[in-house]
Amino acid sequence: MNIVVPVKRVVDYNVKVRVKSDGTGVDLANVKMAMNPFDEIAVEEAVRLKEAGLAEAVVVVSCGAAACQETLRTALAMGADRAILVQTDAELQPLAVARLLQAVCQQESPGLVICGKQAIDDDAGQTGQMLAALLGWPQATFASQVAVADGRATVTREVDGGLETLELTLPAVVTTDLRLNQPRYVTLPNIMKAKKKPLDILTPEGLGVAVQANLTVLQVSEPAARSAGVRVADAAQLLDRLKNEAKVIA
Ligand code: AMP
Repeated sequence: MNIVVPVKRVVDYNVKVRVKSDGTGVDLANVKMAMNPFDEIAVEEAVRLKEAGLAEAVVVVSCGAAACQETLRTALAMGADRAILVQTDAELQPLAVARLLQAVCQQESPGLVICGKQAIDDDAGQTGQMLAALLGWPQATFASQVAVADGRATVTREVDGGLETLELTLPAVVTTDLRLNQPRYVTLPNIMKAKKKPLDILTPEGLGVAVQANLTVLQVSEPAARSAGVRVADAAQLLDRLKNEAKVIA
């Protein structure tokens, strides 16, 4: 089977983002971009399944502007075999991405799709779930362990108060949680090799998908600045302030 891994190009997680002065969004000018961290975990998991002989090929897919090719090349350097860019400059919301990925999956017929559990720019956490629904495939979100055997995936998920283990019939959609694995570093020789791996460019029109925005962002604002703390002389004073000023204890 082949594994499809959708990877999103987002602002690097080390960057402290700034909100645009008109409150319409985040300022992306001259900001370092990188692969969404949960998608790195997804690529790593897919490559490990391939290395274990459980998958034939790993196909990475990104939807967005031409610059997403850089993100795809990073995934190829991690060990993916092929890349697909669905190129568009249109604003992409999770439902539109899920529709594009659905069309790609109909072409690629993967046995497994591994998405990130959320993109760290929009924090939507919707695309994998919508994709599973559109395809009519089973899904297991927030995976911390994935095992594949005999046309089935066994997925452990971290839930409130413990672990839940699900068994899914393939093809299926899995979304990754932080503890699934530790992604490998890309090495220079692998970066060089990745330049020669195939990267196909498709368009939403070519896939027969009309990209439209169903959500309107009304406003983006910075969180309120934290006010300065105060020093207290002793525990008695601390308790007094918590009780009588902050009123957080009775
Ligand atoms: P979200 O629903 O936006 O939080 O994204 C969840 C996951 O969907 C991401 O971790 C990616 O695996 C995938 N995804 C979202 N947007 C894109 C995109 N533009 N291109 C490829 N994959 C995406």
